[in-house]
Amino acid sequence: MENVIIIGAGVAGLSTAYRMIERGYNRLVLLEALDLVGGLSRSIKHDGYTFDLGAHQIHTENKTVIDFLDKILGKDLLRLNKKASHVFLGRYLNYPLGIKDILFCLPLYISAPCFLSFLKQTIKNVFIQKKEDSCESWMISHFGKKMYEIYFKPYTRKVWGKPPSELDALVAKERVAVEDLIDVLLAAFSRRIVRYKNHYHLPHSPYQKMFYYPKYGVGQLSDLMSDFIQSKGGKLYLNSSVVSLGHDGNGYKATTKDGSVYQGDVVVSTIPITRLKDILASSRGGEKPEETLEFRSLTFLFLDVKKDSISDNHWIYFPDKDCVFQRVTEPKNFSPYLVPRGHSSVCVEIPCDYKDEVWNMDLKELYETVIIKMEQKGYLKRENVQQFWVTRERYAYPTNTLSFVSQLKAIKNYIGTFPHLYSIGRQGNFSYVNIDDVMLMGFETAEQIVRSGVAS
Ligand SMILES: Cc1cc2nc3c(=O)[nH]c(=O)nc-3n(C[C@H](O)[C@H](O)[C@H](O)COP(=O)(O)OP(=O)(O)OC[C@H]3O[C@@H](n4cnc5c(N)ncnc54)[C@H](O)[C@@H]3O)c2cc1C
Repeated sequence: MENVIIIGAGVAGLSTAYRMIERGYNRLVLLEALDLVGGLSRSIKHDGYTFDLGAHQIHTENKTVIDFLDKILGKDLLRLNKKASHVFLGRYLNYPLGIKDILFCLPLYISAPCFLSFLKQTIKNVFIQKKEDSCESWMISHFGKKMYEIYFKPYTRKVWGKPPSELDALVAKERVAVEDLIDVLLAAFSRRIVRYKNHYHLPHSPYQKMFYYPKYGVGQLSDLMSDFIQSKGGKLYLNSSVVSLGHDGNGYKATTKDGSVYQGDVVVSTIPITRLKDILASSRGGEKPEETLEFRSLTFLFLDVKKDSISDNHWIYFPDKDCVFQRVTEPKNFSPYLVPRGHSSVCVEIPCDYKDEVWNMDLKELYETVIIKMEQKGYLKRENVQQFWVTRERYAYPTNTLSFVSQLKAIKNYIGTFPHLYSIGRQGNFSYVNIDDVMLMGFETAEQIVRSGVAS
């Protein structure tokens, strides 16, 4: 019998297993639903091309994470300078987009009302307490109504499939860089000084931000972790979706889709917390809390491009509401090893809901919908595209609706009634976290298990 069952071989599950093995515990089994490891941070290969699921930069200043990346990837750990843009109202703007870009890079008839509205809101905030009880009120109180209407509202709606009034303020707090009036005025002044220098010298330039990336795709990190775990006796079973999980007073029994049964004393689950609630319920005669949580899905269209380069950006956002995609990534700009020589490629991220119109679109129709807009926006011509593929991810983003805090609490309380069960990771903890965060969650969970003395 294995002692620790880890459900899901994404970064969180692999990090837990890795640290357990480093601490001398190898009686563990990783059960993964897909036929490869990495989860959302996997890399998919097609005809000599390697695609991540959208842009995956590892941005961290945490020494534990950096040391770990160095140890596992060695000379394959690249350090890159981020280059990203927005294409908004037909113009290329900086990323992350700030009020400065709206004010200085867009035509006056758009920027002037935005600035006045921003000014009005800034003054209002001095006298009236800021209202920040939803994503909408947060954005308005930080940027003014006009900028909210032209930029934040349509973009948020596209990414989350809901108006910002139905989302928690956390969505904005976690994703939007705030600039205050002083910032903007300083930018106006410094812009005059640095006008003839390049973007790298702009204050707050996102281009100065370095990130880490594995030479052969973000999935290389998970592949190497998985190799280490297995080389030390840890077991990994792919194509092993767990469909039920129960505790009989003595230990856990996890059953996979093909009927295989795994027993253990401790379970670390990294699958969506709502799925965990469902598979646990089978062991309690269907008893489970009614509360549920929403996840936003993504459809990824991968393009094989017969062209040496499309742009020098790592990724470009397309916030305009007239096109279905939210972002395109050019893998070659992360590492030339991700494409055949003389070619480039693109990963297109299309937000959707599970089984909605976009999710159900067949490949050809999806490609047509995308390429028409790419041509209109001057990004890519159809004659340069040779092949295309699609991948869909049901659980891409945990959606922080207005009621998510109470729903999550009820589900966590239920899961808390099971002994030695840890629900961690992006979907397991229902938090909008990144690779470095889930890696630390995995390490910490392993330490907790070791400290608890249950693992042997
Ligand atoms: C479009 C996009 C871009 C991103 N960009 C970045 C970025 O630039 N930088 C960054 O640091 N992070 C980024 N992230 C976040 C990063 O991908 C995640 O934080 C991280 O991969 C989450 O790892 P995890 O192990 O917690 O979860 P997951 O990767 O979701 O792993 C869970 C695993 O469980 C498996 N599973 C599910 N159900 C079952 C079941 N019933 N039985 C067995 N196995 C099951 C899944 O197949 C999966 O492998 C991005 C995410 C997305 C979606």
